[in-house]
Parts: sequence; structure tokens; C-alpha cells
Amino acid sequence: MSERFILVIDEGTTSTRAMLFAPDGECRGIVQKEFTQHYPRPGWVEHDAREIWDFTLHCARTCVAKVGGPAAIASIGITNQRETIVFWSKRTGEPLAPAIVWQDRRTAALCAGMKEKGYEPPLQERTGLLLDPYFSGSKIAWAMASWPQLKEAGDDLAIGTIESWLVWKLTGGLHVTDATNAARTALMDIQKGMWDAGFLDLFKVPPATLPEIVDCAGRYGSTSPELFGAPIPITGMAGDQQAASIGQACLAPGDTKATYGTGAFILTNTGAHPQPSHHRLLTTVAWRLDGAMAYALEGSVFVAGSLIKWLRDSLGLLVTAAQSEELARSIPDSGGAVIVPALTGLGAPHWRPDARASISGLSFATGRAQIVRAALEAMAHQSHDLMTAFAADGAEWTRLRIDGGMSANDWLAQDLADMLEVTVERPAFVETTAVGAAMLAGVGCGLFASLEEAAAMRGEVQRFEPAMDEDTRSARLDAWRMALKAVLAN
Ligand code: ADP
Repeated sequence: MSERFILVIDEGTTSTRAMLFAPDGECRGIVQKEFTQHYPRPGWVEHDAREIWDFTLHCARTCVAKVGGPAAIASIGITNQRETIVFWSKRTGEPLAPAIVWQDRRTAALCAGMKEKGYEPPLQERTGLLLDPYFSGSKIAWAMASWPQLKEAGDDLAIGTIESWLVWKLTGGLHVTDATNAARTALMDIQKGMWDAGFLDLFKVPPATLPEIVDCAGRYGSTSPELFGAPIPITGMAGDQQAASIGQACLAPGDTKATYGTGAFILTNTGAHPQPSHHRLLTTVAWRLDGAMAYALEGSVFVAGSLIKWLRDSLGLLVTAAQSEELARSIPDSGGAVIVPALTGLGAPHWRPDARASISGLSFATGRAQIVRAALEAMAHQSHDLMTAFAADGAEWTRLRIDGGMSANDWLAQDLADMLEVTVERPAFVETTAVGAAMLAGVGCGLFASLEEAAAMRGEVQRFEPAMDEDTRSARLDAWRMALKAVLAN
């Protein structure tokens, strides 16, 4: 039989992609289309679910045509921006309102009010999350109270995250969500893997509107025959950060991946039991297979690559992001300059949305290279604070597997190894989110017996070993702590 491929649908925040993977992990094609960001008011971010579906279908069809038709596709895997929530009609399959995106802050007051009433501790215990507009629950509460057509729809209303919406459209009416996406709604009991009646009530979510929670791999259903000319099974699903973690083969407790893109997202596998955080990290589902869940702790840093972008676009210190590496290498140190990149506040483990950034330790010897180097150094400093929080929660890092746009920077990869004193690993193919979705789809369609077997898809990795002397390392950390203290004191 001729070669068959796994088709991955990677639904990001700004673009939709379809990618073709051979079973050995080689990527044989990518089709990408950017979709529209709607900002109806300050702090509001919406997507048009119809546009997302249209572009997804276009990208997927182009990939299917590339390999000669649906017979060459063994199965489909889906990975997606998490927390974004879609409202549609079960009868027509059309959206009934805009999709509210994870970045949307419209429910800040609602969440603050609930926090004041003491709902955060039980929410954290039950769902692993915090009371923040980031998660879907408060977005649904707001929509049900503000968009009358949703209430009027009654039993016709379907609600779901992006992968749930896409599966509905692909299959013509299957209403499911995978456990990793469900874990980000603030509506799922993470111990039981079921919707929590108490939080559905609190966020005013009618239970009949929600999808069934399913595994991350399995034969959920097949695409409607008219979409690609023949049905194709859908056999894998996971939220983007969980998919990246799987794509990095973080399959055993302690395995950790860090994605350095616009922001940085770090997940550590904590095994078969959810580990509560006492240091403001999130407890989340890493995957669910055959009904059994694996868990992770998650920490997010708001500013990572966006700091380099800011140096390039707003300050004009760089022509390209990649140039930061050459500048950092051109000097032995930052000459005492320290950047605390709180340009949109500080995320985990500080959670200080009001904090503002600083550049300190300047002298007349400070030039462009020193500022750029200080910006790159800030990545290891922020990661170090997270590593401390993870360790305090009982999740020690022994190795860090990196990916994301910034991970292409060799100087940064070495600095992470030096400052965190762990081996840093970078796969040759850094699209780990898509690899993770392909691994799940491969397990779901029987191509692989387990995720461990599928992990061969990750391919070659490059290693960076710690090499910095202890005096230099502790001097850097001392300077960082002082600068951070000043920022947090303001
Ligand atoms: P996202 O998926 O969040 O959109 P990417 O993973 O594509 O982001 O990473 C893009 C970010 O990485 C940009 O903010 C850019 O400034 C930064 N970046 C890209 N290449 C480099 C590099 N070689 N060195 C440092 N930063 C980089």
C-alpha cells in the first residue's frame, strides 16, 4: 500500500494551518492562512468562528489534494488555541455570536467580584485554575447575560472551545471536547474529568449546551464524505500547550517543556494525580487516554519574544529578531544592565498585572548590544523564577525541552542551560505542537500502540549543557532579584 499521512489541523490565535506528517515524523507540507482579529472595544478580542471554519476547510482541502486525495490520509489530529469559546446553533451549525478569545479581558470585573466572594479557593481546588478572565467559564457567563439570542436559542444552543467547533463542522454534528481543552474552561472537575455542576451553576452554563468530554486519542468520528470526497477519521485532539508537551515527549513525571514564542509557556508532567499548586501555578490535564488522565503544572510568562519584537519595532535597536544573537555574543556581559520585562504586567509566579517594566543598571558604557543582551538574559531570569516555583510545588526540572520562535537563538539556549543548570534540548523540527497532535492522531488510529512509541516522531535533538561558573551565575541572579524587587515594590 502506498504511503499514508496524518493531517494535522493547527488552529492558532492568529492563523489556521494544515500540515501533513509522514509516520516517521517528517513534515511533508504546510498550508497556512491568517484570520481576522476583531477588537470591538479596548480589552475585547473576538474571532469569527465561521471564518475559522472556512479557512480550516480550505487549508485541509489543499493538503488532501497535495497527496492525491482522501485515501492517502490515515487520520486527522487537531490542536488549538485554548480557552477561546464558540456559540453555535445545533440545528444550522452556524455561529450565533462572536467567539470570545482567550486574551479577552471583558470579564475582569466579574472575576474580581467572584474572587471577593471567596470563590477562588474552591475553583482552584476543583478545576486547578485561578479566577481570571483568561478561562472560558466567565466568558460564557458574560455572553449568556449579554447576548439575548443565546438565551432565546434554548436547547438549540451549542457551546464549545475551538476543537469542539471544528469537530462539529467536520463531522456534521458530533459534539465532543477533549479533556485538555475542557480543563481550561474552569467548568471541569479535574479529578473526575467531568463537568462540575457547581461551577456550571455559578457561571450560568446550561448543561445541555456543553460537549461530551472525551480522550485525546481515539476514533471519535469521521469527516462528512462531501468535505474531502470520502470520510477521514478524526483520531487525536489536544490544546496547543499540551500538544507541544506531548510533541516534546514529556511523557514521564518531571519531564518539562518550555515554549518561547510571544510569551513563554512551561509545563511539567506530574503523573497520574493532579498536583495542587501553592505557588500560583496552574494544575492542568496533560492528556487523557483510555479514560485515564495524566496531569501537568503550568506556568506562563507574558513577555518573551515580544520583548525582542519591541526592541526591534519600537526602539529600532534591531533589524531582525535573529540579530539579537550576534549582538549578545559581541560582548562578554551586559555591563550591569538588567531588564525586567513587565510590559504587560508579570504573569506566573508573581501575577501582578499592574507591574511595569524596568531597565536598570545603566552607565555611559551601556550601548545597544548591552540592552539587547539584557533582554535575552531576562528569559533565563524569568524561567529561573518559574523553576523555583515548580520546585517548591514538588516538580523539579532535570532537563528543559525548548521550542517556539525564540528557541532558534543558540545563545539563548546556552544561557538557559547555564542559568538553570540543566541540560537544554531543542528538537531539529520545532513545530512541536503539530507533532504532538500527529502523535495523538497516530495513537488514535492504531498506527502506534502508545505515546512512547509515537515519540519517535520527535526526531533529532540538539543539547546544550551548563558551562557557566558559579560566581557569574549567582551575580546575575542577585542583580535580577534586586531589579525585580524594585519593580514589585512600585
Ligand atoms: P507565536 O507562536 O507566539 O506567535 P513564535 O513561536 O513564532 O511566536 O515566536 C516569535 C517570537 O520569537 C517573536 O516575538 C520574535 O521576536 C521572537 N524571535 C524569533 N526569532 C528569534 C531569535 N532568533 N532570537 C530571539 N527572538 C526571536
